[in-house]
Amino acid sequence: ETWEDSGLDPRLIENCRKSGYRKPRPIQAALIPHILHGDNAIGVTETGSGKTASFVLPILNQILAMGKDRIDEERRKLRPFAIIVTPVRELAKQIYHHFIKMAVGTGIAIALSYGEMNKEQSIAKMSEGCHVLVGTSGRLMDFVTNATIGLKNLKYFVFDGMDRMLQNAQGRFDNEHLMAIVHDYSFPKPTERQTLLFSATFDKETEGIAVKVMGDPNGRGL
Ligand code: AMP
Repeated sequence: ETWEDSGLDPRLIENCRKSGYRKPRPIQAALIPHILHGDNAIGVTETGSGKTASFVLPILNQILAMGKDRIDEERRKLRPFAIIVTPVRELAKQIYHHFIKMAVGTGIAIALSYGEMNKEQSIAKMSEGCHVLVGTSGRLMDFVTNATIGLKNLKYFVFDGMDRMLQNAQGRFDNEHLMAIVHDYSFPKPTERQTLLFSATFDKETEGIAVKVMGDPNGRGL
């Protein structure tokens, strides 16, 4: 497998090569074509496998495909095309930096917000550009419920670190809240968005969440 087989935009392939990614990792070769095709995906994998790029690259690719005019027009509107939710700040930061590295030269703006960041400052920064929003669940739920961000463009909902979310009582509580929001009438329906879930483990509980958040398990891609 080479990057050229992946179907990604040459600008993204160049950014991969600049980062020293000579060829796709197995998880990337497996997932990227499916995500580009419009499927949902569940990645059961540990950090270190290359899972981050397996969703970062196809998401950037599909935003790029909308064209420069649309990208420029949407830059400051606080209506992200992709939301990436994680249970912890460190993971959110890592994902954010990965997006930044892969988005060089594309004109796609990446925003980051988590609970410990001042909310007003965070919103001011996001208003400079927010095609992709990465953050922790509590902060992002706040943005959704208070309509700080619009959902009409939302095409990708990524939930990374699902297993870690379920490890403590607060995480379980946040997860229930997150699921309620995802089911809210204003959140794009499962058929109108792609859902990508990542977890180090996969058991009955994570499966239950996957079914809930992806909608009909016999539907697209699951
Ligand atoms: P992750 O599992 O996403 O946390 O990635 C683990 C590490 O692998 C990160 O440091 C990435 O920069 C690196 N990485 C991801 N994809 C590739 C690739 N195709 N070739 C080489 N390194 C990679």
